[in-house]
Amino acid sequence: MKQISSRQFNWDVCGHDKIVHFLQSAILSGNLTQAYLFSGPSGLGKKFVASKLIASILCQNLEKPVPCGVCSSCQQVANGLHPDFYTVNQEINEKTGKLSRGIIIDQIRNLKYKLQQGTLLNGYKVALISDAHLMNLNTSNALLKILEEPTSNTVIILLADDVSYLPQTISSRCQIVRFLPVATSDIKSYLENRGVFDSGLIARQANGRPGVAIDLSNNKELADGVKNNIDGFFKIIEADLNSRFEIADKIISWDKDEYINISSLNNLMHNWQLALRDVMLIKSDNEQLVSNINYLDKLKEQAEILDFLKIKTILRKINQVDDYAKHNINSKSILENLIINL
Ligand SMILES: [Zn+2]
Repeated sequence: MKQISSRQFNWDVCGHDKIVHFLQSAILSGNLTQAYLFSGPSGLGKKFVASKLIASILCQNLEKPVPCGVCSSCQQVANGLHPDFYTVNQEINEKTGKLSRGIIIDQIRNLKYKLQQGTLLNGYKVALISDAHLMNLNTSNALLKILEEPTSNTVIILLADDVSYLPQTISSRCQIVRFLPVATSDIKSYLENRGVFDSGLIARQANGRPGVAIDLSNNKELADGVKNNIDGFFKIIEADLNSRFEIADKIISWDKDEYINISSLNNLMHNWQLALRDVMLIKSDNEQLVSNINYLDKLKEQAEILDFLKIKTILRKINQVDDYAKHNINSKSILENLIINL
């Protein structure tokens, strides 16, 4: 890979300084690895960093820090139309409108075929495989063949919630890049630099996830939704079974698109986990660490009502939601099952 040691970078990543430095150094020295595995829960910035890495590799602008964001390559990458940039995502089944059960083998075979073709622009081919943990064994084996027989000037980036969700045969052939939660102070200054109002509150609510902070700061409805989600949660755990469903209907609306539903459910669970964590902090005299500082009164009230055992039991049930969602169980059924058992 050619060296571009004189290049400056224009990444603007929130936190992850070591990862950013590591990847930029690889670009500068021309030592990019054939395959990277970015691991960590959603919202930490894996996809964002991957997008900067990809655009920097393909950017054609020699005058500006990379990625310049304005050259035709940068534009094509941003629009998903770059001829040497391939993406593999969970696809929507056109007949049912539902997401496919993970990444299917034909997608990986198709990727292999594309990577074997010559490049169309500057000699690099880049592939981004999102939700790589959703590959079954056959699909993983197809990917393994690509990793075992690398094509020149190819960089493949896999995104996964956790390294352990992938077969070791795959992860051992990748440079593993682990994304960890970002310090609240880093998220706060990132938001402040963008003139975000309430940056302190949003940074605490994001709980280490810059993606959540950015969503909250861009979307007032989402921020208001946090309050509704938390209020609803405390009402649900006190209510009888019939009322629980009525309350749940008021805090989450289901879309035709299951992909949107999964995201709404994850968001709701994140809010509930954080609220319970806050209650535990108050109970253990660590009020200064509470995330939802604007709902302190409500949280204190709950700290009087809920005991540690009850909180831990609920948290365990909420954590299971993630597993069910990975098994492609309908989001609405997952939530119904949870609120019956709270
Ligand atoms: Zn560019």
